[in-house]
Amino acid sequence: MARIEANRDAAIALLKKVVDIPSATENTGGVKRVGEVFADELRSLGFETRWVGHLVAERRGSKGKRLLLIGHLDTVLQGEPFRRDGDRAYGSGASDMKGGDVVMIEALRALHREGALDGRQVIVVMTGDEEEPKRPHSESRAALIDAAKRSDAALAFEGYEPGMAVIGRRGIGSFHLEVAGSQGHSSGIFSETRGDGAIFEMARILTAFHDELREPNLTYNPSVVVGGTDVTYDGATASGTAAGKQNVVPRKAIVEGDTRFLTRDQLEKSRAKMKAIVEKGLPKTSATIIFKDGMPSMAPTDGNRALLCLLDGVSRDLGTGPITEHDPNKRGAGDISFVAGLVDCLDGLGALGEHEHAPGEYVELGELPKGAERAAILIYRLTR
Ligand SMILES: [Zn+2]
Repeated sequence: MARIEANRDAAIALLKKVVDIPSATENTGGVKRVGEVFADELRSLGFETRWVGHLVAERRGSKGKRLLLIGHLDTVLQGEPFRRDGDRAYGSGASDMKGGDVVMIEALRALHREGALDGRQVIVVMTGDEEEPKRPHSESRAALIDAAKRSDAALAFEGYEPGMAVIGRRGIGSFHLEVAGSQGHSSGIFSETRGDGAIFEMARILTAFHDELREPNLTYNPSVVVGGTDVTYDGATASGTAAGKQNVVPRKAIVEGDTRFLTRDQLEKSRAKMKAIVEKGLPKTSATIIFKDGMPSMAPTDGNRALLCLLDGVSRDLGTGPITEHDPNKRGAGDISFVAGLVDCLDGLGALGEHEHAPGEYVELGELPKGAERAAILIYRLTR
């Protein structure tokens, strides 16, 4: 593995090459060009490659665990060129995750040089739209899901944090609440005929959500509210209008929000509780709540823990200290979540950097060979 360090300059040159190709998610031409650069590298390492809007590269074999390695080609921002300042390299996507992709490639290069990939099945999927996956997900993630179905474990190369790896990522769901009340003169509010109005009912529901649903790893956030006698809301622009005179009991309120959860079971239970709260109802009001799935979660399973345990052993053997599990609440959703129900998963094997999704993004170049070494030995041990 000493050769990983020796190949450091070539790895940095590869990083420069891909960072200097602008590839924001919407720039599909740029995304494809970055894919072509990595496809060339992977072909030189014995992989067959194809382009399906994502780069899919595959080595066939039957020894040891069959692995899926996940990266992505797109970036949130684009246009900041590669710039080296000592041991840091700046540029759009330098850390998230062109740096991570390079870590993966360098690990595979080291293994290929030793002949350690011979007879092993390794599938690399670098998606073209990770930062904003196209809908429906069943189509845009079909290649990734197909690869997972033919694999035993998935390793993703999103950002590394010292001493930590990711065995759980929260998923995202949304809720849409509509409340109806009986419109009439404000002096009649709380009366038997007029009831409590749509806005008090909305407030009751949100207060109950606030007070009664709390549990670890679950959050729910009402993001916008419109209420009054005349109300519109447009989901596409996340904006609306409301009108209501002071002397009128309002008849309508709409609330939108999202939920973050760690397991599907947790999501289902929180939805059941929300429904029960919504159904209670103040006098002369009614409400309905609709739920939508956004991103699945990556639940922290025993299988994921076993992968972490292996990585921890690799890191200790390399003298770089223990690796423990990252707090799932501090991590957003990622591509690996789409395959979490299918294979054991481990994420956070990529580059060490900062200011992802922001100007001034950089990656620590000194950490690239260390990450590649850790990944190479992990892959080696998994595929024996
Ligand atoms: Zn990323």
